[in-house]
Amino acid sequence: MMLAPVCLQCGKPVGPEPDGLQLAFGRFCSRACARAFRARPVEVTCSVCGKKFLLPGPVTREGPPYFCSGVCLESGAADKTSARRSG
Ligand SMILES: [Zn+2]
Ligand SMILES: [Zn+2]
Repeated sequence: MMLAPVCLQCGKPVGPEPDGLQLAFGRFCSRACARAFRARPVEVTCSVCGKKFLLPGPVTREGPPYFCSGVCLESGAADKTSARRSG
């Protein structure tokens, strides 16, 4: 049984690419789909209040903490900066 690889973004069968597109972009049918996949909203959990929300944009390189709102952002930032002041 053979599993045909499909585009992770649009679900189209990718198939064996003769020109190495698959190797270059992973399992995507096109460069556009690879970009769209990385840029799509990802559900994360707010590090302050624990609420789940959609984070628009790539989060692969950004780890937690995540903040659902400006209020939580301030709360989290205040918690960080209270440890030590630089400058
Ligand atoms: Zn695609
Ligand atoms: Zn929050």
